Amino acid sequence: MINFDTPIQYLKGVGPKIATLLARKDIAKVGDVLTWFPRAYEDLKAVKEINQLRPGEITSFMAQVGPLKEIPLGRTSRRIFELTFFDSTGRIAGKWFRVPFRNYFQTFTPGDWVRVTGEVKHYRNVLEIHHPDVQKRDQETELSSADKGLLPIYSETEGLNQKLIRKIVKAAFENATDEIQETLPEWLLKKADLPSLKESLIKIHNPGEEDYAMWAEHRSPYQRRLIFEEFFWMELLLAQSKAGIVREKSIPMKAMTSLSKSLRKNLPFELTEDQEKVLADITGDLLKPHPMHRLVQGDVGCGKTVVAFLAGSLVIENGFQVAMMAPTEILAEQHFLKAKELFEPLGIKVTLLTGGQKDKVSKEIKSKVAQGEFQLVVGTHALIQQDVEFKNLGLVIIDEQHRFGVRQRAELKKKGFNPHFLVMTATPIPRTLAMTVYGDLDVSTIKTMPKGRQPIVTRAVNETKRQSVYSFVKDQLEKGKQAYIIYPLVEETEKMDLKNATDQAQLLMKEFAPHKVGLLHGRMKAEEKDELMKKFKSGDIKVLVSTTVVEVGVDVPQATIMVVEHAERFGLSQLHQLRGRVGRGLDKSYCVLMSGYALSDEAKERLKVMTETGDGFKIAEKDLILRGAGEFLGTRQSGLPGFRLANLVRDIDILTEARNSAFEVLRNDPKLTSPDNKVLHEAIVQNGKTSLLFASIG
Ligand code: ADP
Ligand code: MG
Repeated sequence: MINFDTPIQYLKGVGPKIATLLARKDIAKVGDVLTWFPRAYEDLKAVKEINQLRPGEITSFMAQVGPLKEIPLGRTSRRIFELTFFDSTGRIAGKWFRVPFRNYFQTFTPGDWVRVTGEVKHYRNVLEIHHPDVQKRDQETELSSADKGLLPIYSETEGLNQKLIRKIVKAAFENATDEIQETLPEWLLKKADLPSLKESLIKIHNPGEEDYAMWAEHRSPYQRRLIFEEFFWMELLLAQSKAGIVREKSIPMKAMTSLSKSLRKNLPFELTEDQEKVLADITGDLLKPHPMHRLVQGDVGCGKTVVAFLAGSLVIENGFQVAMMAPTEILAEQHFLKAKELFEPLGIKVTLLTGGQKDKVSKEIKSKVAQGEFQLVVGTHALIQQDVEFKNLGLVIIDEQHRFGVRQRAELKKKGFNPHFLVMTATPIPRTLAMTVYGDLDVSTIKTMPKGRQPIVTRAVNETKRQSVYSFVKDQLEKGKQAYIIYPLVEETEKMDLKNATDQAQLLMKEFAPHKVGLLHGRMKAEEKDELMKKFKSGDIKVLVSTTVVEVGVDVPQATIMVVEHAERFGLSQLHQLRGRVGRGLDKSYCVLMSGYALSDEAKERLKVMTETGDGFKIAEKDLILRGAGEFLGTRQSGLPGFRLANLVRDIDILTEARNSAFEVLRNDPKLTSPDNKVLHEAIVQNGKTSLLFASIG
């Protein structure tokens, strides 16, 4: 008998050869086929002619295959493949930036009739279609009359075409449908108005004559149910882990204020209202009997560092050590210098620990940290090395959290007795998403900027205007201002003819003489970097030519000009971070984004967004949409599961619903012992499995 767990090769029509091909799609068992979801649907009722196509639509049309062109990409070995389709009304180019599988294009002969499905795009005033599904018409005659409505389209690999895939899916359902067991409690299905798992899986593969628009938007009840399911299990695990933190004991802190009062007295400014609010959240957390796990998000330059130092002072006054981790040596050094300036006059000892230090130096620092001689330890990744020990670590601060993964947090946790966690990020994301991506964290947000900040004047200009940009920079230098000039790479590579920072620095030294120009890049030794940053801070160097090593966190308030070369090569968040290096004081600041010709639509869009808004929240949202959640969040490093159907941007409404449900379940039934939640208990507690969609926990 063939069932769910039968190896796929025993399914009718499969065999060892096809089983090997399926293995590439992670399909090993008959049951795996059921969750091999179509990547799109085609509306068989709405086949169009070429002159009816409009940009932005996902559509199908019948056409004949024309010639294939291979277009080389610059000096690289990569190529774009362009296959022309035509009918009696016109022609359109299909473009592929990678070949779907070996010999893919050889499967078509000019003159073949095909049906093409995909999203129509506008590029330099002509319509194109990128990576469409192309089906030869003879395969279509196989479709039965039941397939008149929506046709599922699967992602193909070599040797597996749509016709074969559909046959395998059909056979799998014939053998395994009866075994599909409901994974969500009955009451939850009712409450959230969701169809059963069995019905949803069947419909996903066989939608029939459904409403196309709803399916294209992933909002059919069946898609919603499966997306909900993926989010629900993840959120249930998060809710459990959060409940675990609340049960954890932490070292009790007392509400002491004298150290933080003295610190405040030495600050050259008053805290903003939002800084005060966040500090109050943190203070509240520290007095609780369980550890704080709080994320502070706030736009570049809003003043998160000083909040972190003040939080640190409360913990230090309670007699515990504080560790502060930053993603780059430059940033760690900067925090260290700032902390020294603020804390040392008050008798608090501060040290720095980075990978760039000499063994002898770091050994001595480590031994003093272990003995509790330093109360505040600032560092890079070096802080999580095995041989770093603390005497009594009470608080861990992680700056620019989005640069780290979840693992680093776990590593630091081991270095104290359930220390408190304060993590900071300047990449703000919608609240529900933040709470999910950062797992079990509570979220505080700084929305306002310190008083007196002016918007940064931002212009996107063509590189041909470089000379006038330079004369503008010179004018500003004459007025005593300082500038950053950023290049994407350090050295010229064969493949990309970027002007590299090294060569350019030489030219710029002449250009800006007698003002001094310095070059900073990632391959320099730690001491060289320090030396240079110090000179830039002190104003000895006026122009800092740099790669993106200054991207995050760097704070030199008197620098007011940011010039970014090849701005089209940077992502939105990166550009926003770079721009955030200026506009940190009261003086008017400028950001010039230089780029060449022939920009992609997306690059143009990015530059446009940058010139139109300075709001980091808006920019992050746009970035999320342009790049998709996976890229934006660095899904793998954030520890999120790879979703099959769910999409963190598109489905944020379902995410919110699933999150609320999961937290509600655990609130009402913390151990999942209620008979109503039997399926959840069986999955999580008994089997260590979450559901059909998630193979295992963890
Ligand atoms: P970010 O949130 O990007 O880490 P920083 O902590 O580096 O920002 O702060 C940016 C600049 O603003 C620093 O020069 C800091 O001293 C200054 N700053 C912070 N808080 C205030 C405030 N309340 N008023 C004026 N300036 C402030
Ligand atoms: Mg910062």
